[in-house]
Amino acid sequence: AAGQITADMIDTLSKKSFPLCMQHLHQTLKREHHLKHGGRMQYGLFLKGIGVSLEEAMKFWKSEFMKLIDGDKFDKQYSYNIRHNYGKEGKRADYTPYSCMKIIMSNAPGPGDTHGCPFRHFDPELLKQKLKSNGLGKDALEEVIATTKKGHYQVACSKYFEYIHGGIALDSDIQTFQHPNQYFEESQKRVS
Ligand code: SF4
Repeated sequence: AAGQITADMIDTLSKKSFPLCMQHLHQTLKREHHLKHGGRMQYGLFLKGIGVSLEEAMKFWKSEFMKLIDGDKFDKQYSYNIRHNYGKEGKRADYTPYSCMKIIMSNAPGPGDTHGCPFRHFDPELLKQKLKSNGLGKDALEEVIATTKKGHYQVACSKYFEYIHGGIALDSDIQTFQHPNQYFEESQKRVS
């Protein structure tokens, strides 16, 4: 339900229950105190989808960006976009979080961008490192990488999920993730 996740819960959740795409955006934001537009959109809408309210989202982005810029600049340059994602500006549409298909197929990341799907857009060596540091053993790693090489990115993401959640298969009605928010919800069912 909307509004149950506060800004200070996000970091812990990112380690436990975020898919690789969102974990990567979160870590980049923490390290650089900035994300480019494509990343802010992809990550911001995902956070909205997991139940971060507009107020908490504003707190979250502002506290991170203010490690580099002052609050006044943040309010002028970035707050509009965040309110916009929540339908409070412009057309006042209620924007929905991006699906895996949308992330994989459209708006491929350019140099310096951190949005996208790691299974699709990461350099293979970087992907391997990331999977390893998240605890995948040798066999699991090989299987996930082989699946990625065949172009089955969402299947690779789902296999990765199963490995890091105790090797238990996804329910037969899911099989393969279609949405980063679905990944999050399934993970939360298992860890909480
Ligand atoms: Fe994110 Fe979907 Fe790619 Fe998984 S398959 S990393 S959830 S975009």
